[in-house]
Amino acid sequence: MTNRRKFLRDASLLAVTGSCAATSDIFATSVSAQVNSAVGLQVASPERKSDNDVPVRDDSYSVCWLGNAGWWLRIGQVNILIDPDVEQGRTRKTLEGIPDDCLSKADAVLITHEHGDHFNRSTVKQLIQESSCRFILPASCRQAAMQTGIPTNRIIPAHHLKPIELFGDRSTVTPIPAIHGGIAGAVYKRYNAADCGYLISMMGINLFHPGDTVLLEEHYDLPTIDILMISPTEHNTNIHQSLILIEKLNPRFIFPQHRDTYYVTDDNSFWTHAYYKELGEALDESFKSRYHVVKQGEEFIIR
Ligand SMILES: [Zn+2]
Repeated sequence: MTNRRKFLRDASLLAVTGSCAATSDIFATSVSAQVNSAVGLQVASPERKSDNDVPVRDDSYSVCWLGNAGWWLRIGQVNILIDPDVEQGRTRKTLEGIPDDCLSKADAVLITHEHGDHFNRSTVKQLIQESSCRFILPASCRQAAMQTGIPTNRIIPAHHLKPIELFGDRSTVTPIPAIHGGIAGAVYKRYNAADCGYLISMMGINLFHPGDTVLLEEHYDLPTIDILMISPTEHNTNIHQSLILIEKLNPRFIFPQHRDTYYVTDDNSFWTHAYYKELGEALDESFKSRYHVVKQGEEFIIR
């Protein structure tokens, strides 16, 4: 079920227009301001010419795991990163397989919360330099955003349940509440209520990345989900809550994440070790064929 592919992307088709106004406190801006700023990123046309000059519609959709909770989504002509961490730190096992151009091609980067395995400062600094991406992030990332030097006109604030229009009016990113877990499934004592996950609705496909969170009732309110990233770690939905979420959402594709990325120790296993094999075995038969454990850097074609 897994594939790799290589293809050329015509960057000229991506029109970047307009700009968003910098304010002293961008996280206090209204939703309409948010949307206006987001409108600065639009695809000029979903169509492109093929080699024999026949117009074709690019409705391709693929996901590529960048390690931990990081993903590169290639949706038509658009490149979206979620929680990218491509720093070869001391605790990182390897960066093997991660495409060299995953940062430079980014059009939008979604960050769920401020922890270093999601808001990776080294990676964010690279993105600031090497791409012209916008950063969508919650207020809990405000300080980290300032410290890493993200220009305010490249930030789009994420507010829970307020859709952000990206890349045209039928493409939205909706921040979904997230409550960070801790040891043995307890709610983390320093959780930040502004943290989020993201519902990405583009080209008729709904993808949900929960961020780091325990199971919440807001998850039950989600629309039909086609693609679900799931984190079966002790500090997230582990096995039991992951099973509930999968049953509730009934996704066509399920990708376990927050796994196999950092060296596991007794002290950090509650967030570095994922029970994804156990989850895969516990799944109902109907879900087993939809459950894909992908390799780091592998591009998985949705369509
Ligand atoms: Zn995490």
